[in-house]
Amino acid sequence: MSDHDFISGSKPIGIERGEGVSLYTADGTEYLDAGASYACTPLGHSHPAVVEAVQEQVGNLTFVDSSFPVQSREDAYAALVAATPDGLDQAWFCNSGTESNEAALKFARSATGNSKIIAATRSFHGRTMGSLAATWKDTYKKPYEPLAGDVEFVPYGDSDELADAIDDETAAVILEPIQGEGGINVPPQGYLETARDLTNEADAALVFDEVQTGMGRTGEMWACENAGVTPDILTTAKGLGNGLPVGAVVVADWIADGAASHNATFSGGPVVSAAVHATISTLVEEEWTTHAAAMGDYLTSELEAALGDEVREIRGEGLLIGIELKRGANRAARDLAMKHQILALPAGRTVLRLLPPLVLDEAEADRLVDALRAVIAPNPEAQTES
Ligand SMILES: *Cc1c(COP(=O)(O)O)cnc(C)c1O
Repeated sequence: MSDHDFISGSKPIGIERGEGVSLYTADGTEYLDAGASYACTPLGHSHPAVVEAVQEQVGNLTFVDSSFPVQSREDAYAALVAATPDGLDQAWFCNSGTESNEAALKFARSATGNSKIIAATRSFHGRTMGSLAATWKDTYKKPYEPLAGDVEFVPYGDSDELADAIDDETAAVILEPIQGEGGINVPPQGYLETARDLTNEADAALVFDEVQTGMGRTGEMWACENAGVTPDILTTAKGLGNGLPVGAVVVADWIADGAASHNATFSGGPVVSAAVHATISTLVEEEWTTHAAAMGDYLTSELEAALGDEVREIRGEGLLIGIELKRGANRAARDLAMKHQILALPAGRTVLRLLPPLVLDEAEADRLVDALRAVIAPNPEAQTES
């Protein structure tokens, strides 16, 4: 295996090829990718519609800057705006999740004229200085301080604390509609609505970071649709180009009108735009969001039946599922990979995170449940007998 850069870890599994929910090593060993490499491949690995669109585009025009209209960007833009809730009608493309949140915070500050940002405990918004300032975990932040300041943290899910924190100095409240990295935390009923009401009253921007929750994963195109709440700014990345590096910020008119100068050289490049258009079109036309809702229900109830007594909690929405274990999640993830060829992701010390491609079928879900049972609740009969 090749050397890796000094900061990324290296798993002892070299991947050569991907298809659907499966990844393959050079010697042909197959792994079920239940993490979709951090939710980046909603349509499954190397989906033919995306591959074809990208290949055609890269051959015709690999790059031209965003001041020139190109068809693939126009198509991606139209598809994205059509796929986001009414009221979010203008978009700006970037290259990653952290860059989309960085832009969201800048847009909120320039549109409101205020600077104060309110974020939640256990949040994750990315690792560049601005997004990092709104990220909760000290181990990510401390060594890099000072960050872009004026961020106040409130306990995620607590409406009263949020009400106390918001004032007329507030530029934005930034929340994940369901927290991903922080442990798949679903807020209490009404929390996002309260955040909407409070930000409206204070003329502050409500930012939903849907980098992990979006693109159909929760059984709606965006997790905020489950709650019936539309933010002023919605950020997306990860699954947006089914594996190509692209992010976007979709905003209400008042944010677009108030946004000051901001851009990036690679914004809306033709190739990533082709990927975005193909990904969204395929998701929508083939109704993978509906499939994700049904498969999420199936997987969750099978997991409850198999593991309910052995774990602390199974939570989430659609195919964004967290299993709160009684023991370490890192070891469970390693055992799943090494003994069962299942790739899952930890989210914190005790939560195992399942974010499979949305195209997961019932047999694959069963395989996932069987492996989880073997790792988390091994052989219950033998244990009661001994
Ligand atoms: C992964 C993630 C980000 C950061 O995205 P990058 O593309 O890694 O910069 C931001 N917010 C959420 C909710 C994420 O899951």
